[in-house]
Amino acid sequence: MMPTQLITPHSATVGRFVVQRSLPRKAVRTIGAWCFADLFGPADVTPSAGMDVGPHPHTGLQTVTWLFAGEVLHRDSLGSEQLIRPGQLNVMTAGRGVVHSEEATPTYRGSLHGLQLWIAQPDVTRHGDPRFEHISDLPRFTRDGIDATVFAGSFDDAVSPARHDIEVVGVEMHVGVGQHELALRSGFEYGLIVIDGNIDVDGVSAKPGELIALGHGRDGIRLAAGLDSHVVLLGGEPLGEKPLMWWNFIAREREEMNAFYQRWQEDPSSFGTVATELPLIPAPAPPWSIATVEPTL
Ligand code: MN
Repeated sequence: MMPTQLITPHSATVGRFVVQRSLPRKAVRTIGAWCFADLFGPADVTPSAGMDVGPHPHTGLQTVTWLFAGEVLHRDSLGSEQLIRPGQLNVMTAGRGVVHSEEATPTYRGSLHGLQLWIAQPDVTRHGDPRFEHISDLPRFTRDGIDATVFAGSFDDAVSPARHDIEVVGVEMHVGVGQHELALRSGFEYGLIVIDGNIDVDGVSAKPGELIALGHGRDGIRLAAGLDSHVVLLGGEPLGEKPLMWWNFIAREREEMNAFYQRWQEDPSSFGTVATELPLIPAPAPPWSIATVEPTL
């Protein structure tokens, strides 16, 4: 069993928002197939500050969008135009390539708060067709002071209808003050992202934005909440592959990544086009094209 580890996020800028990125980090690259986690907000959406992320491509991953407050308009090269609100789920499977934008709506003013997550696709499906799924109603359960919504996979008899290529679990939990036992699957890796409040596992205490990495080999954990807290549990079967992540692409080899980069520079519409007025986001050059360094996101 891996020791319980506190992972502090680093700040990154996405569109006009500062986000707390807890995956990937040096100490922990993936939790199951979850390979990217940005916590954005809570931040006020105003005419000059909202989430306006112009069209950009993805390959070899699923994006999972889960909001706690606010609303975001998703558009993609499959023709999808979907408003998402708290309690609803957007899952976009990139496969061999897709383009999307995420923007503020003209009408919403208020707080925006949520998670943008990625799941690496296994090699057997990552060259497949892109698709988009919106699920407006997710299963919930309440027990022992925990109010939970299962947005990915299954937990405690609640099963999310979202499709995934590898076994994962994602659960949003409101946790009351005190101690709580959670049953886990020993074959899964797990991590807990604290959204609000304060959570302690095995003496490791985390505050909002921080991730408690739990590794695999546990059939349960005890959470101690010092105040009413809000957390997201991520888990899944170990990926068993080494995805190469750079910018918005996932590949396996640098040659493949270089080809994605070149295609987005020279022929972005080959990934598809999005019906939005936001400008395309240019890709930075892969770091290994100027120096031999390990890619970091
Ligand atoms: Mn994206």
